[in-house]
Parts: sequence; C-alpha cells; structure tokens
Amino acid sequence: MERIPDFAVVGAGINGLLVARSLLQQGVSVTLLDKGEVARESSWAGGGIVSPLYPWRYAPAITALANWAQDYYPFLARELLEETGLDVELSNSGLLMLDAQDKEIALAWATSEQREMEEWRPEKIYLTERELAEKFNHALWMPRVDNVRNPRLCRALLASLSKMPGFTLLTNTEVDSLQADRAGICSLVIRDVRTGKMERLKAGTIALTVGAWTQELLKPLCLNADIKPVKGQMLLYKLAKPLIKSIVLFEGKYLIPRLDGHLLVGSTLEHVGFDKTVTDIARESLRDAAVTMVPALSSLRPVKQWAGLRPGSEGGVPMIGRAERFENLYLNAGHFRNGLVLAPASARLLTELMLGRETFIDPLPYRPR
Ligand SMILES: Cc1cc2nc3c(=O)[nH]c(=O)nc-3n(C[C@H](O)[C@H](O)[C@H](O)COP(=O)(O)OP(=O)(O)OC[C@H]3O[C@@H](n4cnc5c(N)ncnc54)[C@H](O)[C@@H]3O)c2cc1C
Repeated sequence: MERIPDFAVVGAGINGLLVARSLLQQGVSVTLLDKGEVARESSWAGGGIVSPLYPWRYAPAITALANWAQDYYPFLARELLEETGLDVELSNSGLLMLDAQDKEIALAWATSEQREMEEWRPEKIYLTERELAEKFNHALWMPRVDNVRNPRLCRALLASLSKMPGFTLLTNTEVDSLQADRAGICSLVIRDVRTGKMERLKAGTIALTVGAWTQELLKPLCLNADIKPVKGQMLLYKLAKPLIKSIVLFEGKYLIPRLDGHLLVGSTLEHVGFDKTVTDIARESLRDAAVTMVPALSSLRPVKQWAGLRPGSEGGVPMIGRAERFENLYLNAGHFRNGLVLAPASARLLTELMLGRETFIDPLPYRPR
C-alpha cells in the first residue's frame, strides 16, 4: 500500500531544512525533496550574516522575524553541535557599518527594537579595525551580530534530520508540477532527474520552500507569488593573517571574516533571470569595494568567485502561510537578501500555521498575497 507522508517539503535549502526539522520535532513524518543535492543553491552561496544589512531600513515584518531568529541562532548552533558533532562556526564578529547616511534613524530604531547599537567616532573605529582605509568619518557598531558558515549549517541540519524518525530525503527529484483536485487538495508530480521517470507523490500537507523557483511552480495553478531570482556574486580571499575582526559594511558592500582565515566579499544585485555565471565586471566591482575598505587587500587575489540566486520579493518580506484556494498547500519563500537570518523564525511560524497552533508572531504581514 502507498505510504503517504504527513508532510512533503519541496526544496532543501535553509528554509526547507529548518521547516522539515521543526515538523519532525513534532513527531510527524516528512519527505524532503530537492531537484539537486541538499542546499546547493542560494543557501550555499550566501554570506551567512545573521542580520539584515542596515536593519532599520526594512519593514517591521522583517525585523520581527530577524529579532527572534538572531536570538535563537546560538541555541540552534549548540543543539546542532550536540546532536551531530558538527560546528557551524557561528562567530560573534559584530557588524560595523561605515558612514551610513541615516544614522539618527538607525539609532532611534535600535532603541525602540532594543538592539545594541553604538555610534563610533574615527578614533574608536581605527583603534578597533587598524587595517581600514583612513577615510571614514563615523560608524554604527552592532556588537551582537553573528556570522555563520552557511554551508556547514545546512550540512549539520541534514545530519540532524537524518537521525530523526519519520524523515525521508529524495534528492535529484524535481517537482515537475503541482496538481489540485476539485476540493483544492494538491499532490505533486515528481521527476527523477537522472532517469526522467515521473510519478505522483501525495502528502497530507505540502510546504513549498523552493526559493527563487517559487513562481515557476505556482504559475500553472494561477497563483502569483511575485518572487524573482536576483543574482548575487561573492569573492573569497584566503588571508595569511586576519585583516579585520568585524563584518564591515560600506555603501552596500561588505567584508565577512571567517574563523578559518578566509574573508568573503559581497555582493552584487543583478536582475538577470536564472543565470548563475560569474563575471569579470562583478569581480572587479567587488575587488574595488574590498580595497576601498581595506587597502591591504589590493596585493591579494581572490581564490574563488561564485554566484547564487536570491528569492527576490517585494520589500524582502517572505510569504509564509497557506496558498489561497488550496487546502493543503503552504508557502515559505521570498526571503530575498535575508533568508539565512530569517529562516529559523520563518520555519517556526510556518510549522505553527500548518499544525493549526497559536503563532508566536502575527502571521498577517506574511500571508501569501
Ligand atoms: C550572494 C548572496 C549572499 C547572501 N548573503 C546572505 C546573508 O549574509 N545573510 C542572509 O540572511 N541571507 C543571505 N543571502 C540570502 C539567502 O541566501 C537566501 O535568502 C536563502 O538562502 C534562501 O533560502 P531558500 O531555502 O528559500 O532557497 P534556496 O537555498 O535557493 O533553496 C531552494 C531549493 O529548492 C530547490 N528547488 C527549486 N525548484 C525545485 C523543484 N521544482 N523541485 C524540487 N526542488 C526544487 C532548489 O534546488 C534549492 O535547493 C544571500 C544570498 C546570496 C545569493
């Protein structure tokens, strides 16, 4: 007899992994599917800053998720270490934002949201970060901001899921389409990417966590999620000795120091569809931004460049909740530039909605539009 899982989670990026984990923790069965391997798309490509950049510039709906998730990350990292032995290298580097124009608004936001933020004069900046170019007039410092090795985080989440009863993983399994019956109950038509074989998969409830690909799957159901791929390119340097201690942000570009001596430079924002090729133009613009912040980088060559596709959405507010007209179809997508930071809160909210529980924050701002 066909075994129908309680939940099918489509897309094994950070959002799918965390949704699957929080469901399994409730004792239900979950099948997680991905058209490729686990977390090889945006969740692998991202920088892993556990904060929105210039967080005061975002809607309260993003702040609500980010505040909860930022406070939760240290617990998540500890739990994963205990469960799997894998260290996700959550590092409390802090975030130093140089010459932000709207610092009064930023400071007022930090007070009202009870997020630690200090204004630094040049003396303090250069006492702390000696390798920065001597051209900055002021900075905003958020000491509680972390960064995480996101590929490791996803590996640890997979290791955690693999130990949980009720978990099934189907990689190289693409959801070709969603089909709905007259009662609005959806099932999945899946395709084995290697053999081309198609079959139908039923599940009690379906959660779509397919990031930039959300619109592709929803279109045949006449649903419009308005989520578009936004390409981001990154550079990686290998340093002989650390040049900076904090995440440094200037005019939208950032440097992230990793604990293993690597330094990441991010990122571009490109509206070029599903194209993930890396370009010379992006490499030069990221190098220029990096050298503008830390001149010592001018003598080094990046060791790696890559690109990922962010799930771009209006204002970056993700859609979390049931898709209108369909009884068992839920969305958790559109996290744009903040998917890594928001994912734990977003998974919690979706799980509570799918299980019909009281939610820890107001779900209205995220309701699929
Ligand atoms: C350069 C860059 C820097 C970033 N930096 C940060 C940062 O510092 N901090 C931060 O919070 N966020 C950052 N982000 C954003 C963050 O990476 C994303 O918001 C987040 O990873 C989205 O996660 P996701 O799980 O929704 O999507 P994804 O990680 O893209 O996962 C979606 C999954 O769905 C699968 N899929 C798609 N279609 C199908 C289908 N039909 N059938 C089966 N599977 C399917 C894909 O294969 C993929 O594995 C960055 C992104 C980029 C590109």
